[in-house]
Amino acid sequence: MASGGRTDLDGAAVAPLTICVIGAGGFIGSHLCEKLMAETPHTVLALDVYCDKIRHLVDPPPPHLAGRIAFHRLNIKNDSRLEGLIKMADLTINLAAICTPADYNTRPLDTIYSNFIDALPVVKYCSENSKRLIHFSTCEVYGKTIGSFLPKDHPLRKEPEFYVLTEDESPCIFGPIVKQRWSYACAKQLIERLVFAEGAENGLEFTIVRPFNWIGPRMDFIPGVDGPSEGVPRVLACFSNNLLRREPLKLVDGGESQRTFVYIKDAIEAVLLMIENPARANGHIFNVGNPDNEVTVRELAEMMTEVYAKVSGEPPLEEPVVDVSAKEFYGEGYDDSDKRIPDMTLINKQLGWNPKTPLKDLLETTLTYQHKTYKEAVKTQMCLATAT
Ligand code: NAD
Ligand code: UDP
Repeated sequence: MASGGRTDLDGAAVAPLTICVIGAGGFIGSHLCEKLMAETPHTVLALDVYCDKIRHLVDPPPPHLAGRIAFHRLNIKNDSRLEGLIKMADLTINLAAICTPADYNTRPLDTIYSNFIDALPVVKYCSENSKRLIHFSTCEVYGKTIGSFLPKDHPLRKEPEFYVLTEDESPCIFGPIVKQRWSYACAKQLIERLVFAEGAENGLEFTIVRPFNWIGPRMDFIPGVDGPSEGVPRVLACFSNNLLRREPLKLVDGGESQRTFVYIKDAIEAVLLMIENPARANGHIFNVGNPDNEVTVRELAEMMTEVYAKVSGEPPLEEPVVDVSAKEFYGEGYDDSDKRIPDMTLINKQLGWNPKTPLKDLLETTLTYQHKTYKEAVKTQMCLATAT
């Protein structure tokens, strides 16, 4: 079959694939579908309970994409069409999950079911039908760093082996069961172990992806506009919401935790390399992040405030941040990962991938999108709220 001119990293032609993308209507799924439609000849079976973020691709598909993408509205918890769709595809990519920290300690049962139980049939159908699986896990399976257990000023905290997170070497360190924050990480770890075991015992061809804070346009929702007013999305959308409403950004427990942020479009390049280079990607777990984009959450708040002022033309707030306790913000049972530096050795060696976009640039693009997409809607919603 024609390859659409695409070659893999070893120079061989890539045959057009049919890819079953579960969770295609989410943040990562929407960028992945866009990339596959724009740059490859592959066909997508897009599964999700919602399609708002891929409406431009599927409702209905524009004429040039006819026959290349089809949306199947289904819940993988209980839909008998799932196995048939996996059988129709060459490759399944499972993105479906509850993956917002505000849910981990307040809806631990839903979190565990979504990230472990609901993923089981997907793994089973791939294994039984000899279909390749790319499963999305999380950097959170590493939990806390070894260094976090040392005194704050201990010199070993500065040594990379005490904080750099390496796929096949670093341990997974979670808090106690009462800290229900770890329900997500623990469910993701168990599904990783199951996928790995299916590979070892039954020959499942798999790749596991551990995203390290991928961010960009279309991430999550703005509370009260395209999501519930009381909803708490991930930090990019929380801070965007504060900036749009001209209210201080809330720093949980002082905003001392550190994160590395990678631009969604860089990260999607890595996923495409995995899709088109099975011989190099199968059997591996890959970190996908940008170790050069590390900030504390406080620094992220300061940077977003500065960038938002630039792209919106609005003056920054006099008091841009406010401290809030984790208990107040997330409720009982919250805990946090202290620091997340991905080791990039493996993905660089296997797939030659490196992230490109500096944090400032990706925030500029993303906050320009947030401002254009949401400013008027937020204004209207705030007016309505004061009128009632
Ligand atoms: P997202 O919430 O935007 O997307 C998940 C999608 O899955 C949603 O559209 C949701 O409707 C769908 N879904 C959930 N349960 C479903 C079900 N039962 N049936 C059908 N569809 C269902 O999240 P995302 O940021 O795109 O994350 C995708 C994956 O990547 C998740 O597995 C997540 O754990 C992992 N991940 C993402 C990040 C990140 O930085 N964005 C970090 C770590 C891990
Ligand atoms: N956070 C914060 N204020 C907010 C939202 C999040 O200080 O309004 C912090 C949160 O406690 C964590 C970090 O930002 O330390 C990243 O949170 P996110 O929800 O993006 O997910 P995580 O990286 O923890 O998976």
